[in-house]
Amino acid sequence: MYPRSFEYIAPTSLEEALDALAANPGAKVMSGGMSLIPLMKLRLFSPGLVVDIGRIAGIDTITDGGDHLAIGALVHHAATAADASVASGAAALAQAAGLTGDVQVRNRGTTCGALAHADIAADQPAAALALGATMVAQSSSGQREIAADDFFVDTLTSALQPEEILVEVRVPKTGAGSGSAYDKLGRRGGQSDYAVAGAAAVVTMTGGSVSAARVALTGVGTKPTLAGAVADALIGTDGSAGAIKAAAAHAAEGVTVLEDLYGSQEYKAHLAQIYAARALSAAVAAVN
Ligand SMILES: Cc1cc2nc3c(=O)[nH]c(=O)nc-3n(C[C@H](O)[C@H](O)[C@H](O)COP(=O)(O)OP(=O)(O)OC[C@H]3O[C@@H](n4cnc5c(N)ncnc54)[C@H](O)[C@@H]3O)c2cc1C
Repeated sequence: MYPRSFEYIAPTSLEEALDALAANPGAKVMSGGMSLIPLMKLRLFSPGLVVDIGRIAGIDTITDGGDHLAIGALVHHAATAADASVASGAAALAQAAGLTGDVQVRNRGTTCGALAHADIAADQPAAALALGATMVAQSSSGQREIAADDFFVDTLTSALQPEEILVEVRVPKTGAGSGSAYDKLGRRGGQSDYAVAGAAAVVTMTGGSVSAARVALTGVGTKPTLAGAVADALIGTDGSAGAIKAAAAHAAEGVTVLEDLYGSQEYKAHLAQIYAARALSAAVAAVN
């Protein structure tokens, strides 16, 4: 199906893009177009104006901010996956980016676009949530920071306002004694597709026991969701396989598990446990 007719602009400065968004309520930002264009063709989104930010210079870098990594709006999934500082400081995000779609999608789609899009089965939102990332949103009237815990509101709905651009995501680096990981079951049985269910985990070990943990699920509910009961059950244990299995059994607690074309509620709840355990095991193994 063809999209409804729309206007298209490709500004070369952030200011110009922000002014266009402010002046045109209902306009949509396009970064990679990997999700926006298919949804426009299905006529699920019919913006009157598409503001393509792909030609804006200076927002395509990953920078080391000391205690965090700042990933700009136009950093593609492939770049997030391949970056050595992301691989060592925020491994869950690098792994999630590397498991996002196929080669073409990873070379066109952006990490910030995946976060802004807030698909219920996307990979990088779960990693950003587990890692405790901060979103930097900019409009023509200024900049604000949104914690990942508050960013994912509902299906395809983030806390971004229509006139805002997600210009950067800041991801805290996992330091000494910490590790993180992401794993999923893809819809076609492999990993390079949206998640039937997946989990990202961050673990900190102090003196041989787990002192902090965060686990986020994707594909299971209406948005990426922290599995707080898993973290609560794991903290204070030795992080052994047995402790992880027992903690992961709480994965669906307090989570509204949704049935979809890819699985029943029971199956999704089961996968949430399996992938929470796998991500936790990999995160513990990665503790440095
Ligand atoms: C064949 C295929 C397979 C895929 N498989 C997966 C998968 O396995 N896992 C997965 O997680 N995703 C998958 N995707 C989605 C892919 O990751 C998209 O790239 C991503 O969801 C959106 O990134 P984008 O840069 O293309 O955003 P766009 O498509 O340009 O935009 C998506 C939405 O986010 C908004 N937006 C984009 N960037 C910004 C910004 N900087 N600020 C504010 N709003 C913004 C747009 O307005 C739009 O509403 C797949 C897509 C395709 C086509």
